[in-house]
This record gives sequence, structure tokens and C-alpha cells, in this order.
Amino acid sequence: MCPQRPDGFTGKNESKRDSQAAGGEFIRPKKSLGQNFLNDTRVVQDILCAAELGENDAVIEVGPGLGAMTGKLAEQAGFVAAVEIDTALIPALKKLEERCGNLAVINRDILKTDVRKDIIEGFFLPRGLGGSVKVVANLPYYITTPIVMKFLEENSADIDSLVIMVQKEVAERMTADPGGKDYGAMTVTVNYFSEPEIMFTVPPHCFYPRPGVDSAVVRLKMRKEPPFELISRDHFFLTVRAAFSQRRKTLTNALANAPYMNVTREKVAEVLAKMGKDVMVRGERLSPAEFGQLSNLLIK
Ligand code: SAM
Repeated sequence: MCPQRPDGFTGKNESKRDSQAAGGEFIRPKKSLGQNFLNDTRVVQDILCAAELGENDAVIEVGPGLGAMTGKLAEQAGFVAAVEIDTALIPALKKLEERCGNLAVINRDILKTDVRKDIIEGFFLPRGLGGSVKVVANLPYYITTPIVMKFLEENSADIDSLVIMVQKEVAERMTADPGGKDYGAMTVTVNYFSEPEIMFTVPPHCFYPRPGVDSAVVRLKMRKEPPFELISRDHFFLTVRAAFSQRRKTLTNALANAPYMNVTREKVAEVLAKMGKDVMVRGERLSPAEFGQLSNLLIK
């Protein structure tokens, strides 16, 4: 049976001091590393429920912090690799690692980690795991987008799902419908790789220290097959980027103004006509599949 947290951390009395005890030491949360530690066991339980873990699952936890979720993840999964950048948190996490037996604490920047080589091949495959890799994390909000994009773009074939705590507004962008203010490049990209779903929202008082924003747990279930055929994935993502980098402009102008698209207004207008779209349409009106069609027709 794996303990829930490293030594010393109780999560209680957080209002009475400005630092948390972990491994017998006092830890002052570092704002620069996005350290808002979960302080509510019900939220941890709900995240575990959303992750639907089993003994054949291999879990990557980004930023275990004080270990609010780590021990519970190890109880339910086959193996957990927990990647934490903050060296000050490592001694307590290493104690937890010793006790769990199926946990590896890796002191590294997730953005500089080769997930396939260093985690999946290094820890999961030798243990007969790796068929079902799940990312479970209360993400550091200052780098949410690069972390999510890294997993989607580099590891989409390896990962089964991501169950992640993000800012509520980021969760709303991931799950937005075309036409609204939240719909953008992130929505299209996330939907290309996965089926996103907001599981529940989490108020600031469930963290220590309290973040200045509401949070939400979102589940990105990775697609086994792409949702539509693309001639060039790179061209598709450039098209999406160009469309939303000037979202107040018409799609025709936004694409023609982007030097890396190398396309004329006339060509965009011709393709939009073929798609049955108004030449004045803005990018935010196109569904992800329509962006795919647009990209394919621009290449042809
Ligand atoms: N999982 C813990 C919890 O729920 O209480 C901590 C979550 S806290 C929001 C984010 C954690 O990510 C912190 O422990 C922070 O040090 C860590 N972190 C920040 N940047 C990181 C990076 N580039 N790579 C790995 N971990 C990082």
C-alpha cells in the first residue's frame, strides 16, 4: 500500500503559514514555477476517477510538487514516472519513491525531456507497460500550452489520454465551438489530436497558495485515427496559425498576409468558393474539419 504524500505534508493549517512542510522541511511555494499545490483530497479523488487508472496503465505525472496525487496514482496504476523541475522538492519525493516501489521521480524540466526515449523506453517498456500511457497532472499554468502541445505533437501515438488541471479559460478554449471568442488555434489543434472534455471545475480555495483564477480538469482522449485526412499536417497547422494570428481580419486577408503561407488572395477566394464559403468569412467560423479541407485545397 503506497502512502498518499511524502513525509510531513498534511495539507492542514495552510492558512496559518506561508510555506508547506514536505519531508520534514518547510517549502515556500515558488510562484515562478507555477506552484499552487492541491490542498483538497476530494479534488485529488475526482482527478483519479477521471483518469480511470488500472494496473496495466503507465502514468506520467508532470510536476508532482509535494506529492498530493503521486502516491494515489502509484496505488492505482502499474507504474508512475513523476517529472519535477524543482530540486528542493526531490528529497521528499524520493522518500515516497522508496516506499512505493512502482514510482520513478525524475528531476527534470518536462519541456526538455524526450518522453519516448527517457520515460516510455526507459521506465515503462522494460516493465511490460507502455501500451496505455496516461498523463495525469495539475499543470504549472505558466507553461500549460507548451506542455500540452508537446504531448500532442510529439507523443500522440504513445499516449492514451491526458487528464490535466488547467486554468478554466484554457479548458474553455480547448472545448469551444466554432464562432465564439474562445475558439482558436488551440481548439483546432487539440481537437485534431484528441477529444477534449471538461470533467469538472475547481475553485481557488482547493490550492495552496490560491491561484488568482478558476481551474478546471479537462480530459483529452487521444484519437486512434486522425479525424480527417490531410495532405500535409505542417501546412494544416500553418494555415490554422495564420488564420488566428489575425483573427479580426477575413480569412482571405489573414492567409494572404502571412508570408509563410505563400498564397494570394485570389487563390484563397477561389478555394473558399469551392468550399461554399463567403469570401469575407473569418477563420473562427471554420470547423477543424473545414480547416483540413481548406489546407488540402490550397496545396492542390
Ligand atoms: N501536483 C502537485 C499538486 O497538485 O499539488 C503540484 C502542482 S503545481 C500546480 C505544478 C508543479 O509543476 C510544481 O511542483 C512545479 O515545481 C512543477 N513544474 C513547474 N515547471 C515544470 C517543468 N518545466 N517541468 C516539470 N515540473 C515543473
